[in-house]
Amino acid sequence: MSWAIILHGGATTITDDEAEAYRAGCLAALVAGCAVLERDGLALEAVEAAIRLMEDDPTFNCGTGSAINAEGGVEMCSAIMDGHSFDVGGVSIIQGVRHPISVAHAMLRDEAILIAGPAARDYARDRRQELCKPDELKTEKKEKAARKAHDTVGCLALDTAGHLAAGTSTGGLDGKPAGRVGDSPHPGCGFYADDQVRAVAYSGDGEHIARMMLAARTWQLLPLMDPERAVTAALSHVARIAGEAGGIVLSPDGTTGWDHNSPHFAVAQASSASPTRVVNLAKRETQ
Ligand code: ASP
Repeated sequence: MSWAIILHGGATTITDDEAEAYRAGCLAALVAGCAVLERDGLALEAVEAAIRLMEDDPTFNCGTGSAINAEGGVEMCSAIMDGHSFDVGGVSIIQGVRHPISVAHAMLRDEAILIAGPAARDYARDRRQELCKPDELKTEKKEKAARKAHDTVGCLALDTAGHLAAGTSTGGLDGKPAGRVGDSPHPGCGFYADDQVRAVAYSGDGEHIARMMLAARTWQLLPLMDPERAVTAALSHVARIAGEAGGIVLSPDGTTGWDHNSPHFAVAQASSASPTRVVNLAKRETQ
């Protein structure tokens, strides 16, 4: 059986100074995900492994290096979905954990699909997840962020058993109100996975993505068109309400697609059919 993986480092602006860090961070995450899939590991484990690396890399808006909210704090959201069972694990406005994706993964088989705030951190502690002081996740670069950035990360994987998984992790939008939850932990908004259709993950203006149910819209379009066209068609709805986003898709046969209307979009992918690790720092054509 074949495997495949695609991930993104956010629908955002990538300056020349940042390009190498985005490229290296995406590549490292891709290599971690590939290592799981190459040894017949689960798609869910590959997604978690890849996203954990990006959560440790301050280049990305997740884990260490997350966006700073209006009160100077870091509140993160993350989710993971199993395309075989439709189980979802999600955390929102969680503080003081190193790896929100691992907390979300720990939640996967629980009845609740989303847990928020201090209860989410208590849950992480009870599941022996790595805790830290909330301010330890702040980096100087993010504290000085002057531009609107949406660099939520996302990853999709197909394992050799034929199962799909989708994951997201984010610090949300710079300067967001405390307690605000975006699209990233909500199935049908920031992500979705269905073994019989495809897996999808988005980054961008969370309220716009949620208003337009972007992942659900893409999922609905997927049987009708190839992956790339489905993302492009879904993005046109975000553009209708002046939103920016970027999305990735992975099919049960390992084919991928992605598109964005943000200035840049960092995407990396590999598969058993094409094991060369490809990292693309895409630039919007209309720029
Ligand atoms: N979509 C995320 C949110 O609205 C932001 C991002 O993509 O960085 O929380």
